[in-house]
Amino acid sequence: MKNELIYQKKNFYELFGTAEKKAAHDYAVGYTNFLDKAKTEREAVSYAVAKAEANGFLPYSFGMKLNVGGKYYFNNREKNLFLFTIGKEPLENGFRISAAHVDSPRLDLKPCPLYEEGGMSFLKTHYYGGIRKYQWVTVPLALHGVVIKADGTSVNVTVGEDAGDPIFYVNDLLPHLGHDDDKKPLGDAIPAEKLNILVGSEPLGDTDAPIKANILAILHEKYGITEEDFLSAELSAVPADKARDIGFDRSLIGAYGHDDRVCAYPALTALFDCADSEHSLMCILADKEETGSDGNTGMQADLICDLIHEISLAMGVNPTVVRYNSKCLSADVSACFDPNFPEVFEKRNSPLLSCGVVLTKYTGARGKSSTNDASAEYIGWLRGVMAKDNVLWQAGELGKADCGGGGTVAKYIAKHNIETVDLGVPVLSMHAPYEAVAKVDVYETYRAFCAFCKN
Ligand code: MN
Ligand code: MN
Repeated sequence: MKNELIYQKKNFYELFGTAEKKAAHDYAVGYTNFLDKAKTEREAVSYAVAKAEANGFLPYSFGMKLNVGGKYYFNNREKNLFLFTIGKEPLENGFRISAAHVDSPRLDLKPCPLYEEGGMSFLKTHYYGGIRKYQWVTVPLALHGVVIKADGTSVNVTVGEDAGDPIFYVNDLLPHLGHDDDKKPLGDAIPAEKLNILVGSEPLGDTDAPIKANILAILHEKYGITEEDFLSAELSAVPADKARDIGFDRSLIGAYGHDDRVCAYPALTALFDCADSEHSLMCILADKEETGSDGNTGMQADLICDLIHEISLAMGVNPTVVRYNSKCLSADVSACFDPNFPEVFEKRNSPLLSCGVVLTKYTGARGKSSTNDASAEYIGWLRGVMAKDNVLWQAGELGKADCGGGGTVAKYIAKHNIETVDLGVPVLSMHAPYEAVAKVDVYETYRAFCAFCKN
C-alpha cells in the first residue's frame, strides 16, 4: 500500500527538532509559574485579570460602548472570567471561543469545620470534584481561600505555600494495623468523613476544648476572624507542592491541578498573543466544571448568552446569528494512555504521550451518553486550520467504550447553537494530588489555540 494512504500517528520528536523542543521547554517555564500562583479558580482569575490589564484589556460592563479593535474582560464574581476582542471581520461571522476551567479537585472546608479529639485539632472537609480519596491522605496540604466577615470585609487566606509556612495533613493508618483495611476495595478504604485535616495539638487555657481554643486564638490574631466566620468562607485544602520537572530529561511537568489549568494557560496566552487577529475572539475561564458546571459561575449559567447578546447589541448585529456562526474549542484534558494500566484504554483510540494536542469528538461512555458529539464538518474544518500551522494533534477518547466516561463544558456551550469540540492536553494520573503532562503536548496545545485564533 502507498504510504500516503495510511494514517500514522506522529510523535513530536519524530516530527520536530531541537529548536521546537527548546520552544516547548521555554513555554513550560511560564506555565509552571502560573501553576504555582493559581491553585484555585479565584487565584487563576486574579492572575488572568492582571495579565489582561497588562495586555491592554479593559474591564467590560453591560451596556458599554465597544469598538472594533477593542479588548475587554468581564470578571464574573472573581471565579469565572470572560475575555474578548472585537476583530475587524464582521461580528456576524461569530466568535472564536476557547473555554477552559480553572477549578480543580480538592478538599473544601465544611461550614462548621473546627473540632478537637484525642489531643489533636482537625478541620472537617467535603471533597470537591471526583477524587480517589485514598490519594489525599499523608500528603502536604496548603489552605487557600477567602473569609467574608459579616460586615462585608474580605480576608484572604494562603497558608502552606511559602518555605517557612506550616502545612496541613490528613492522617492514615499504619500498615501494622491496616491488615483489615488492606482487604477493602480502594474506593472504600478512606470514607469521605475520614478526610479530616490535622491543624494542631497545643492547648491554650482551661476550657473544654483547649486545642481548638488555641487554633481560634491564632486565627483571630492573624486574620481577625472568629469561629462563626467559617460560616461565610470558601477555604480549600490543596496539595502544597510546587510544580516540578519530572524525569532525567525534564520532559514532563508534575503539578497539582493540570486539569484544567494546562488548557487554561495555553488558551489565555494564545488569546494575548493573537489579540490582533481579524476574528473576534473569546476566552472563558470557567468555574464549577468539576462539580457539574452548575451555579452562576459554571458554564451552565446563561452568562455566555447574555454576554454575546450584549456585545452583539453594542455592535449593532443580531446575537442569534453571532452564536450560530461562533466556533468553540472546549479546552479540557484527556486521559493519556498509561502503560501501567493498559486494561482501561482502547489503544488504537487513546491519546499517547508526546503525540500532541488531543481532539476529542465525543466524551461520555456506554453508548456516547450525555455527550456533545462534534460534527465531522467542524472537525474537518479544524484539521485544515491546524494543518496551516503544522500543529501536531491526535484524536482521542476517554477510556474503553464500556469503561470510562466523563463530561466537559462542551455540551453546555453547544446547546447555545455554537459549533463545539473538545480539545486539550493528555494527562497522566488525572485528579490525583500530583498529575503529570509532557511539555511538548502543552506547547502543541498553545499552538493549536493560536492556529484557531488566527486562521
Ligand atoms: Mn477538566
Ligand atoms: Mn477534571
